[in-house]
Amino acid sequence: MSTRNKYQADENGMYGQFGGAYIPEMLYPNIENLKAVYEDIIGSAAFQQEYKSLLKDYVGRPSPLYLAKRLSEKYQTNIYLKREDLNHTGAHKINNTVGQILIAKHMGKERIIAETGAGQHGVASATACALMGLKCVVYMGEVDIKRQAPNVARMKMLGAEVKAATSGSRTLKDATNEALRDWICNPEDTFYLIGSVVGPHPYPDMVARLQAVISEEIKQQISEKTNKDYPDYVIACVGGGSNAAGSFYHFLDDERVKLVAVEASGMGVDSGETAATIALGDMGIIHGSKTYLMQSDDGQITEPYSISAGLDYPGIGPQHAHLFDTNRAQFLSATDKEALDAALQLTQLEGIIPALESSHALAALDKMTFSENDSVVITLSGRGDKDMATYMERFGF
Ligand SMILES: *Cc1c(COP(=O)(O)O)cnc(C)c1O
Repeated sequence: MSTRNKYQADENGMYGQFGGAYIPEMLYPNIENLKAVYEDIIGSAAFQQEYKSLLKDYVGRPSPLYLAKRLSEKYQTNIYLKREDLNHTGAHKINNTVGQILIAKHMGKERIIAETGAGQHGVASATACALMGLKCVVYMGEVDIKRQAPNVARMKMLGAEVKAATSGSRTLKDATNEALRDWICNPEDTFYLIGSVVGPHPYPDMVARLQAVISEEIKQQISEKTNKDYPDYVIACVGGGSNAAGSFYHFLDDERVKLVAVEASGMGVDSGETAATIALGDMGIIHGSKTYLMQSDDGQITEPYSISAGLDYPGIGPQHAHLFDTNRAQFLSATDKEALDAALQLTQLEGIIPALESSHALAALDKMTFSENDSVVITLSGRGDKDMATYMERFGF
């Protein structure tokens, strides 16, 4: 199943000058082992059958492609929402966790480890582990455990063990270090489940392939709904970049489709309180991968900020760095305020409360111009239930 194009990873996991596997020597066997089998497993009939069946009956796919009429009228074009918010557990993350757990099972692993920041990936991991009867350990910064109590409770109810990372700033990057340490100590029985298109090769490619179902469905659905078999635009938000990578995947080689990625600029790109990695970042190594990241002059990773926890990440997946470098995708950013406005607008025009992350993609509508015949697909990566406390506080409901 090596249908690689110039925007996908080569055999060393490089996307142009980005990607690769910059890992401590002690992790080599684990990574080599995964690299040797992941493509064959994903390509096998047994995996595909089980994966497709779970996506259909457990996740609830295909997710609808919905023509948002009132929103379209406002922007004088045709806006379609790819409804990942309707998936089980409320976001696209479940496509990846279900897929990786199946890969883990095919490899004979019995124990899953994951790291989580705000808890969304932890919950999606714990969900898939409960489904498959696998042991799940989620590493989470001590500070995040306090901030994200409802997600911690969900993980525990699902049977996962939540372990606190107590070093450094006690947030996501410290949880990542703890998870890597665990993996080094337990190479035989443990599978490390990464939640976005980040980390050492083969993770970015593996996660993109598991999320590629999003663009596979868009392609089919847009040809049923319009007189063309491609959309003119595909717009998605980027934290690490998995919902965007999945939304772009089957269109990478089709230059008629304009790809737009939207980062979170927090209080503003130049405010110091931001997560706009492409706008500000330079090249470096984060989480085992060479990519753009936000760092200080002496190379320390900068603490990112965004109102949306899922976009609050100081790096970006290596494929996106390459899509930016080659101009294949356009990168925009939206502030907290712009995302909040876009969330309220969608809610009141369409009766859909979006996740704050997805609202950044919606905010791109005000930064672009479309013609009245364009088909514009926006991936609605998740639903807003988890963000109600923020909406209540910011809108005063
Ligand atoms: C985690 C999350 C994101 C950001 O992750 P990506 O890997 O960039 O897709 C976006 N939207 C929602 C709803 C999320 O939960």
